[in-house]
Amino acid sequence: SLPLFVPIKLPNGTTYEQPTGLFINNEFVQSKSKKTFGTVSPSTEEEITQVYEAFSEDIDDAVEAATAAFHSSWSTSDPQVRMKVLYKLADLIDEHADTLAHIEALDNGKSLMCSKGDVALTAAYFRSCAGWTDKIKGSVIETGDTHFNYTRREPIGVCGQIIPWNFPLLMASWKLGPVLCTGCTTVLKTAESTPLSALYLASLIKEAGAPPGVVNVVSGFGPTAGAPISSHPKIKKVAFTGSTATGRHIMKAAAESNLKKVTLELGGKSPNIVFDDADVKSTIQHLVTGIFYNTGEVCCAGSRIYVQEGIYDKIVSEFKNAAESLKIGDPFKEDTFMGAQTSQLQLDKILKYIDIGKKEGATVITGGERFGNKGYFIKPTIFGDVKEDHQIVRDEIFGPVVTITKFKTVEEVIALANDSEYGLAAGVHTTNLSTAISVSNKINSGTIWVNTYNDFHPMVPFGGYSQSGIGREMGEEALDNYTQVKAVRIGLSQ
Ligand code: ADP
Repeated sequence: SLPLFVPIKLPNGTTYEQPTGLFINNEFVQSKSKKTFGTVSPSTEEEITQVYEAFSEDIDDAVEAATAAFHSSWSTSDPQVRMKVLYKLADLIDEHADTLAHIEALDNGKSLMCSKGDVALTAAYFRSCAGWTDKIKGSVIETGDTHFNYTRREPIGVCGQIIPWNFPLLMASWKLGPVLCTGCTTVLKTAESTPLSALYLASLIKEAGAPPGVVNVVSGFGPTAGAPISSHPKIKKVAFTGSTATGRHIMKAAAESNLKKVTLELGGKSPNIVFDDADVKSTIQHLVTGIFYNTGEVCCAGSRIYVQEGIYDKIVSEFKNAAESLKIGDPFKEDTFMGAQTSQLQLDKILKYIDIGKKEGATVITGGERFGNKGYFIKPTIFGDVKEDHQIVRDEIFGPVVTITKFKTVEEVIALANDSEYGLAAGVHTTNLSTAISVSNKINSGTIWVNTYNDFHPMVPFGGYSQSGIGREMGEEALDNYTQVKAVRIGLSQ
């Protein structure tokens, strides 16, 4: 049978030990069925390794471990205990940064340039959560001398967390940080196309001193390992990042099982708006980052660009030049900006949308095709002459494909920006402070980036309006999703 650790040679010549088992109770174990599945390197289309596949009986084991851990001193001890684990974990991620970045580029196909950024943000987020551990507070409420009232913020309990494949490590950190901070425990399921980095992270979590059962990590597929999590009767909260369609399934399963709390981080079709008075050079950079960073596999990608008429021609021509000068290809070359899309499935889906765009009558300004024929690479693609009802303007494509539209007035662009079922993020590029603030106020989305884009910080909350999600990740807000308020009202004898 498949060994629980396999040596994997990385393109930089080093070899590391990749865990392949399910991480339950701080041990890597075989799945009960002993079934395994392969994970493919998107840049070469070759299998990297097999990993053990979780099914419902394995989820039960993991939930049992997480339940026992929740009832241990983990959730009730001095928060400094959890703080120490989180700081140590952040330091271990720094120490293993190079390996983690390589694993991520290998398994996801993203460029090393991107994966190094992910690893740095991952360490930063765990460090930020470490600082929060002893700052979670209740309050005292004055209602007169007859009573004493106070509130506590108590950890919710056993969580189930389901993450996607576009930022496997970073999304694991956004899920695990609040768990470790608040004293919850969890079963985290990675996406089937990118199981490797979270398993490596699991070994670091153990080394950082998390007690057995606090964090359990399983590899597996949506219907067979994800669904048993969202419908599990002993899981008190489910956190999900992924497509809006799957989010709907998860919320339904949560409601029909035990009404577990639900937070969802879903899709987007985010507008990136450029006003006549924008600084051209930096705006171009943010348009590029907005849609081509991480090969466009970003839920908050700035995938609908709106440019005011006075600056439209200049922006289109410079944006086209910038897109055409981006380095695509081998993720492991230091200067590669765009690696491969994550899977054949994604490649096919994006190419299908490009085809739809052409058939709808949009103009390909640049790109519009695959790059090479080995590995799932797509050229940065810009569509012009789009209409608001075009599918490529309405649907989330989740790839390096963007539409660009001319507008005249502020009112017009606000209406265009808000004409979407989603509301995850938006970009506003202007040098006028009043425009920046008044437009930010009127846009229906959870994040507004002014004169920047895809710009994250552990202290700044992130999450969706409308069908882009429920709840927030990062910042103090994230911790609210992992705690519940208990109110204690004491009658005082007179
Ligand atoms: P995609 O279809 O692009 O892979 P998903 O949102 O379906 O995006 O996948 C994100 C995560 O959701 C993955 O970990 C996947 O295994 C999981 N998933 C998919 N379907 C379900 C489901 N029915 N229940 C729970 N999890 C699911």
